Amino acid sequence: MRVALLSCCALILAVIGSILLAADPAAAQAGVTGQPIQTCVLRDQPGITPAAMLAGRVHFDCPEDQRVLGRGTYWVLSPPLRWSGPVAVRSASLWQGLVTLHALYADGHVVSVNIDQRGASRRMQLGAILEVPLPPHDAPLVRLLWHVDQAANLRGIVRDATLARPRESIASNLLMGGMYAAFAGLCIALLCYNFALWVALRHPFQLAYCAMVLGLLAYAVSSSGWLAWLVPDIANNDRIRINYLLLGLSTIAAFAFARTFFEARVFAGGIGRLVMLTCAITAAASLAFCLFAPLDIWLFDRIYSLAFAAQMAMVIPLLWRAWVRRSNYLWVFTIAWGSPIIMAAFRIASSLGMIGWNFWLDNSTILTMTIEALLSSIAIAYRMRLLSIERDEAREREIAARLLADIDPLTGLLNRRAFLHQAIGREGAQILMIADLDHFKQVNETIGHDGGDEVLRVFARTLRQSVPAEALVARIGGEEFAIVIGAETAVDPDDILARLRAGRMPYDVTVTASIGMCVGSLQRETDWKALYACSDRALFDAKSAGRDRARSRALDPNCAAPATTPLVAIRN
Ligand code: GH3
Ligand code: MG
Ligand code: MG
Repeated sequence: MRVALLSCCALILAVIGSILLAADPAAAQAGVTGQPIQTCVLRDQPGITPAAMLAGRVHFDCPEDQRVLGRGTYWVLSPPLRWSGPVAVRSASLWQGLVTLHALYADGHVVSVNIDQRGASRRMQLGAILEVPLPPHDAPLVRLLWHVDQAANLRGIVRDATLARPRESIASNLLMGGMYAAFAGLCIALLCYNFALWVALRHPFQLAYCAMVLGLLAYAVSSSGWLAWLVPDIANNDRIRINYLLLGLSTIAAFAFARTFFEARVFAGGIGRLVMLTCAITAAASLAFCLFAPLDIWLFDRIYSLAFAAQMAMVIPLLWRAWVRRSNYLWVFTIAWGSPIIMAAFRIASSLGMIGWNFWLDNSTILTMTIEALLSSIAIAYRMRLLSIERDEAREREIAARLLADIDPLTGLLNRRAFLHQAIGREGAQILMIADLDHFKQVNETIGHDGGDEVLRVFARTLRQSVPAEALVARIGGEEFAIVIGAETAVDPDDILARLRAGRMPYDVTVTASIGMCVGSLQRETDWKALYACSDRALFDAKSAGRDRARSRALDPNCAAPATTPLVAIRN
């Protein structure tokens, strides 16, 4: 119980954290490269010139969170700077229109750079960092001023701005490139491996897993800015639209994976419908954002974020349900979903100032995705192990059931149905012996029905021990038994009868039997009928001749001739 409570607390933390962590399709972190710049903002208004602003003659607001100002066109000003040598201005990629960056140098010279949507893509660095290199100038750089047209301001107007030297940019790209390449390699390997497994085994969760990994890979390619390298002409806002869509689809695929992975009882009823609803809202919001932004961009973003948070929140009741319904996969999923929990905890600790912000926290989305994909793959291996154990057990049960269905419970010999199944179709000539206990009714009357049963058991055991192992021995009626064996094998019915006479019977009752025997084909059902009729007549001969003996007959097409053949002739 305590473990359940602890996991619940961890999950509540996860939900809060996941909302904070929720991979942010509207912006990427600008990384920790370079010197950070604190910025202040001013809503665009007529009559104010860039020169006045750069000279510090206009009052700017410096809100902690720029988002409180809402969408619009803004001026963003840096504090006074002192920077000599080559420099690039880096900032997070955001949803915005035309951006103009003005750079003021100590000698009064101003350089202005226009960055439109395609220009933003061409300047995109790995990690979705918008990097604007400033042309070399002799005097030091002293101030920066951005004019941001139509900023959606979903995550800020200018966010995570830094100044970086060229080698810092290269180092950042190399590091990010290595990280994303490792992630992509992992995803491709997992994808190929699990798709091949799906082709072979056809478990639906394998396909859902492939869809999830493919979604995460595509999201990583798009959100990292890699897509802008592959398609430099893509408008940056369109890339952000794609981010929303891909992240939405990835989370939906993740839930499809969970749904097909867990036993049906975990997602049964209201919980399953609720998960479907959150997935449907996520799909609708990401599609709406993708198709209609910047129209109602805030609304779509809010619905999207809420649906995302609701999806994360669903993890709690789902794990709870898995616990209550004794799912075999609870712990493996808790561990897999634990990676966003741990990452979220670190991010929360950092936002509370308990630990410092660092590169790994900054890129925790990709780390989380990596761990998630890896652990889910381990979960799949575990699931397949359980499946193969279940399959082996089911097969064993089936074999046992089939054996039970084939066996006569009293004697342990084959029953009539199984005997016929195995006897008909045998190649070559076969000997069929029908053995029937003599005056068994009297045996029952003397020692009772239970005693009679015991006699049947002893008789069955004697029969089995008297013939070679490859012979089929069956109880085909109340006190009637059949033996089938290839005609080339020497079997002596008198030996069987002698063993029976010598055998110790319950209550020392004397029991004898008669045997009728015939040789013929057993290829088809009609052969069986003819051979059985022949042996039955031979049995009748034995009974008529005084019982406690064996008789054989030669098979004729009608099996009508009552010619009794001496047994010796057959044995030879
Ligand atoms: P015969 O020598 O002519 O074969 O005489 P019989 O009494 O053995 O033959 P009959 O067919 O007249 O009677 C067979 C008896 O076998 C009748 C039935 O009660 C008994 N029997 C059949 N199945 C079982 C069984 O499973 N257990 C016991 N104890 N008796 C059985
Ligand atoms: Mg009998
Ligand atoms: Mg009988």
